[in-house]
This record gives sequence, structure tokens and C-alpha cells, in this order.
Amino acid sequence: MNSRLAILGCTGSVGHSVLEVVRHHPDRLQVSALAARGSNLELLAQQAREFNVSLVAVHDETRARELAARLAGVEVVPGDEGLERVVSDPSVDRVVGAMVGAAGLPPVYRAIEAGKDVALANKEVLVVAGRLVMDLARRRGVEILPIDSEHAALHQALRGGRRAEVRRLVLTASGGPFRDRPRSTFEDITISEALEHPTWKMGAKITIDSATLMNKGLELIEASFLFDVPGSEIDAVIHPQSIVHSLVEFRDGSWLAQLSVNDMIFPVQYALSFPERWGNEFPRLEMSELGRLDFRPLDDGKFPALALARHALEMGESAPAVLNAANEVAVAAFLAGKIRYPQIVATVERVLDSHQPAAMPSLEEALEWDRWGRERASTLLKP
Ligand code: MG
Repeated sequence: MNSRLAILGCTGSVGHSVLEVVRHHPDRLQVSALAARGSNLELLAQQAREFNVSLVAVHDETRARELAARLAGVEVVPGDEGLERVVSDPSVDRVVGAMVGAAGLPPVYRAIEAGKDVALANKEVLVVAGRLVMDLARRRGVEILPIDSEHAALHQALRGGRRAEVRRLVLTASGGPFRDRPRSTFEDITISEALEHPTWKMGAKITIDSATLMNKGLELIEASFLFDVPGSEIDAVIHPQSIVHSLVEFRDGSWLAQLSVNDMIFPVQYALSFPERWGNEFPRLEMSELGRLDFRPLDDGKFPALALARHALEMGESAPAVLNAANEVAVAAFLAGKIRYPQIVATVERVLDSHQPAAMPSLEEALEWDRWGRERASTLLKP
């Protein structure tokens, strides 16, 4: 199999892993197009040159002009039009969705409309509009392959049985930097403490989500839509080593789990190579050197985000989109030093409490509810 990629969010941490996988498989993977916001133009120019890319989307218009001046012979397209071009270009077979937040939804949706397979790291896409996205993918006959490590694990474990044979999915969670910190000190958590993840190196937004465990809540919603399993059949467990990436329990009491080194290179290669499996030279697990693997329950009192996300999923329709929007606003406010750590999830809860779920028959309506959630959260956070 040979596949030509468009990478949305190429300068972020997942983009970095994607390009590393491409470097290891030059005979199987090519990069046709790149897309980024434009905050790191130097890196973007370097990537475009290294992979001989002929089409680049840069969201910021001034930045797009700057890049065009630096890259002779490369087509640089600004704004939403740039994203639209990149995801629908005939030279692209598979689109990698690695942007941050609900902003990644419209281009991924367009990619599916254009009939491209999607390797998806940007979980908010499925949280905001899971049903719409999965229905469209079915109609267009395209694959949505998860890059999120837990979902890549579930995707692999689920190949061990039929849907009717599955009892439940169990997501593993590192527990983030505060899993052992007393709850009574949560008011004092600083931004830099929250950005200190024990096992994964990631962007700021997902690192804060991992600290509140909202990341696990978003992943529960993502898994529900991706694998068509109700929230009541999805659990999470704390696994501090981040070696077992998730598990499936089958009806007969058998479990299948997926293990690998905690490096995004593994779920990325799985998503880019599926339905094949390719050899590689990445550092791998040595079972005899692993020692122990620990599992323990997740404390809902200390980390209410998972239960809140499950509640949003049960409310249904527009509720997960609103949960996600409020969370994006609250995380940004925390990172800007405007609110304290416990207020992140408390804000999301207040927004969700004031929400009356409504049907979302189209992408436009999903984006409308995303806006509503953002406005509501911003209003609540006004000093
Ligand atoms: Mg994950």
C-alpha cells in the first residue's frame, strides 16, 4: 500500500510523530499537503522543503504571504480556503486530523465529503459531531482511523471479536500529574504544575485536559461514537505506566489489551498502515524488563470530569458539543491565568447544567452549538 497524506496541524506534537513515521517509510508514505496555523513558520517551511510538498495551507493570511515568499514553487493558500483545498486535493489519499479543538471539525468533515480516509488525532471532532461524522463516513465509505492511543488500542483489540461479543471497553488513564496529590490542595495548582505530564509529551490543551481528566471524558465520548458503544459500556481505569493503552472485555470474561512503548509513533503508524502492519525500528517493549503494571480505580470525587462527560453523552444531541466548547474556553482561561484549576471543570458543569439538548442534523448546527457553549462559558467567566 502506498498512501499520500495531507497533515492538518503538522507543526504540533502529533504532526511531529506523523512526519517521523513518514521518514521511516519513504517507500509507502508521501506527504502531499501540509496545513498549520502559522505560529511556527520556520518549522513549517522546513517540513515543506524536507518532504517536497507542493501545497501548504496557512491559516493566518499575513503568515501565508510570508511563507509563499520563502518557498518558491509551492502553492500557499490562506484561511479556511486553504484547509478546504488541502483536504480535497486529488493528490491526497489520507487526511491526518491533528489540529486542536473543535476548529478541526470543518476540515475533517470536508475531507470525508471528498471521500478521503481520515487518521484522526483531533478527538474534539467526534465529541462535537460524532454522529454526523460517523454517518457521513459510512455513507462515503471512508475509514476513520483513530490516532488517539486509547482508541488505536481499542481498534486493535476489537478485531478479536464481533460487536455483539463485547461486554465493555476500558480506557486506561495515566491519571495525570495530580493523581496522588491531595484534593484539598487543588486550589493552589499552578499552570506549570498542570503542564507537567508524567508519561506523555503533548500540546498545552490536551495536557491540561489530562490533568483534569477531561481528556478521559472526551475519549469516552469519542469511543462511543467511533465504535458505536453506549457510554454505560465504557469505563476508565488508572494505569500510571501508560503501557497498556486500553482493553476490551468480551462476554465470556476474556480480555484483549494492546501494549506498546508510550510513544505516539505507534498509534500513528497503526492508523497510517491499516489494514496492514509494517515492521519498524522504533524502540520497543521488553516484557522481561517491564516489571509491574498497576491498575487502580479512578476517583470520581477528585476528578469529576469523566462523570460529567458521561452525563453529557447521556443527555445526547448537542450536549457533548457544548461540554467540549465550555471546556476549551475554560482551559484557555486557566492557561491565561484567569481562573484556578478547580474552576475549569466547575465551569463546564455550570454551562452543561444550563443547556437544553437540541438535535444537530447538520454541520452548521453543530458549529452553532459549539459557539453557544463558548459564549455561555465566556459569560460565566467574565470578572
Ligand atoms: Mg489519549
